[in-house]
Amino acid sequence: MRSLVIAFTILFSIPSTAQTNPIDPETVARIVGYSLTRSGASDFLESLTDTIGGRITGSKESQATANLILKTLKGAGFSNAHFEEYQFEPGWQKGITTGELVAPTHRTLFVGTYGWVPGTQGPIEVPVMDLGPIDNGHPTIPAEVRGAAVLVDLRSNALSTTYVATRMRISQQLAQAGAAAMLIVSDKPDRMLYTSAFLFYPRGALHVLSIANEDAALLRRLRVKGEVKIKLDVQNSFIDHAVTERNVVADLEGSDPSQTVLLTAHFDSWDPAQGANDNGAGVAVVLDAARILKSMGLKPRHTIRFAFFSGEEQSDLGSKAYVEQHKSELDNLWAVINTDHGAQTPLGLQL
Ligand SMILES: [Zn+2]
Repeated sequence: MRSLVIAFTILFSIPSTAQTNPIDPETVARIVGYSLTRSGASDFLESLTDTIGGRITGSKESQATANLILKTLKGAGFSNAHFEEYQFEPGWQKGITTGELVAPTHRTLFVGTYGWVPGTQGPIEVPVMDLGPIDNGHPTIPAEVRGAAVLVDLRSNALSTTYVATRMRISQQLAQAGAAAMLIVSDKPDRMLYTSAFLFYPRGALHVLSIANEDAALLRRLRVKGEVKIKLDVQNSFIDHAVTERNVVADLEGSDPSQTVLLTAHFDSWDPAQGANDNGAGVAVVLDAARILKSMGLKPRHTIRFAFFSGEEQSDLGSKAYVEQHKSELDNLWAVINTDHGAQTPLGLQL
């Protein structure tokens, strides 16, 4: 929780450097000492990931997470902690996704759905086509993709926005050409799958699945020898009406509340895993910052607002709703510090 210590130091240093009061090194040392010896961040993260786990926007797990954050804030003494509701549409229910090789032999395939893409309305049996590696991002879509599940190898580290734009564009091209499904070859090892709704939200054009690298290699080897057929069953469904989601907000009031510093993290995640790194750890850090500052009885110069957003993985739904709901206060916002290291190795705090 090194970044927590850094964040505390910054929070209690920035207002002082801009004002006449010098930095109080003793207070900073106390905060650092408290965070290193009495941190509850790991306990919270364990509780979040092991008892709730993945928390897709609009799901009951997302609701449970908002409840847990509110309860933790109230327990820390934030009597002003509250939910801020907003609505989005469409909602999406993730169902079970299964894949099976049915010809020339039988074998279970490791496949998983992307977010906000449609279901198959029952099992479908389709031939496999292969678009191969997409090196320039603009493949020619052959007519043979009609009615087929199409392997697409995007060969990316999944960080670039170009990558997600390419992914979305190819899915639309495949849908227009009548393809039955898009099978994106996972770039992760050990049959690990990938998921996301980035640019598929609000509604993907066709069934977009992640297929394990090893399983895609098998399908490709078999295709060299003849026709390959697979069975897919994707039980996703859309909720075609407005769905209510919540952000959680609490204030540590300052002696001069005319300005606010916002400390934020999104709490929604995907559910193949438990969302520990993206962004459970960020939530734990911000929540622990709130808890520690409150329990030490510190009063900052300006108000520190802690905001926990849902809906980030779709299209920053929660933070956009916050901006809309707090439009009139934005000119009084001194700084925003957001923590969201994503599913990569945490390397520190960037300002
Ligand atoms: Zn994130």
